Amino acid sequence: MKQINYIIVGQGLAGTILAQTLLKQNKSILVIDEPALSNASRIAAGLYNPVVFKRLVKSWMADELIPCMDEFYAGAEKLLNQKFYFKKRIVKPFAEEQERTLWEKKVNEEVGRYLSAIIFDHFQNESIHNPLGVSEILEGGNLNTALFLNCFRNYFSQNDCLLEETFDYNRVSFSENKVVYKDIEADKIIFCEGYKTIDNPYFSWLPFKLTKGEILTVKIPDFKIDDEFVLNKGVFILPLGNNIYKVGATYEWNDLTEKTTEKGKLELEDKLKKVIKLPFEIIDQQAGIRPTVLDRRPLIGIHSENNKLAVFNGMGTKGVMLVPHFANQFADFLINNIPLNKEVDIDRFNKSGVKLERRLS
Ligand SMILES: Cc1cc2nc3c(=O)[nH]c(=O)nc-3n(C[C@H](O)[C@H](O)[C@H](O)COP(=O)(O)OP(=O)(O)OC[C@H]3O[C@@H](n4cnc5c(N)ncnc54)[C@H](O)[C@@H]3O)c2cc1C
Repeated sequence: MKQINYIIVGQGLAGTILAQTLLKQNKSILVIDEPALSNASRIAAGLYNPVVFKRLVKSWMADELIPCMDEFYAGAEKLLNQKFYFKKRIVKPFAEEQERTLWEKKVNEEVGRYLSAIIFDHFQNESIHNPLGVSEILEGGNLNTALFLNCFRNYFSQNDCLLEETFDYNRVSFSENKVVYKDIEADKIIFCEGYKTIDNPYFSWLPFKLTKGEILTVKIPDFKIDDEFVLNKGVFILPLGNNIYKVGATYEWNDLTEKTTEKGKLELEDKLKKVIKLPFEIIDQQAGIRPTVLDRRPLIGIHSENNKLAVFNGMGTKGVMLVPHFANQFADFLINNIPLNKEVDIDRFNKSGVKLERRLS
């Protein structure tokens, strides 16, 4: 029987970054993943933005998350000898006069460290509707998630710690101190299954409030914006090079399938037309389900009835920013018993008085 510290189920952003964080702490791991089960991490534009646009306030914990992100992704680029993490200037054309007034006010508040104080009358590009001027977010950027995940998949495979299969819950058994899956004995199984956790017999009780997202890849032949920019006005427009752009994303709470829809396409087309004056051609459309949570905080911790089962999930709309910090925190918890932030610990639902079905089946 093979003996390891942790089995990690899922190789999306959560499972990948947690696995690498534990490997760096000299823990032995096995990642089990069937990529066809959930698309979210691979199709995400991978944007990170320290500011919530609607209210122009700092994104939750942005000051702590950004340095941690920088450190993790820079280390990963070095390890894998590949560039996938980029700083970008997130350009915000103002849609209304009030938006510009609010920006001018917020520049002098705490969030101001992430807002450029300069407002331009025009963006460099004549093809954009921006009669009210533009400014930009500082410290934003994006992760090429598909490349990042592929590189780590190869890395885990080369290091003999990847198993490509759908995890079979019927093959789990427990001894006093260990959990056994098939012929592998581990200290814990950590489930990082994204929205698929709704089908997990141990953790399906967690209060997800899932959100479907659709995203387009478009060709805009005469739209020349430098790769260092991302535009954001109702939708984001992320340059991929060669006149190709990612445009997204939609938010849908009722249809929770990973199928693309005409409705999603029309919504994004319509929003894109409000930002740019040029014709464009849709070359791809993708859909995924974000693991969003009722109280909008990650879901991390140990099952209250079986300490060999753990979950690392609920990264919602912000996996790129949240995961590196909380992977560090969860590793500290697992290895050194340092308590988790109460806002992310799943224990908050054990004590909330919310009636949740959490019996082991
Ligand atoms: C359209 C869209 C755009 C987005 N844009 C952004 C963005 O710009 N920036 C950002 O930060 N976030 C964005 N997100 C959110 C981001 O994708 C999520 O926060 C993140 O991907 C969640 O990662 P995860 O690893 O928890 O889940 P997932 O990505 O769902 O990964 C779970 C993995 O586990 C596998 N799996 C599940 N169950 C099993 C099982 N039983 N056995 C084996 N394998 C299993 C799945 O196949 C998958 O590989 C976007 C999401 C969508 C849908």
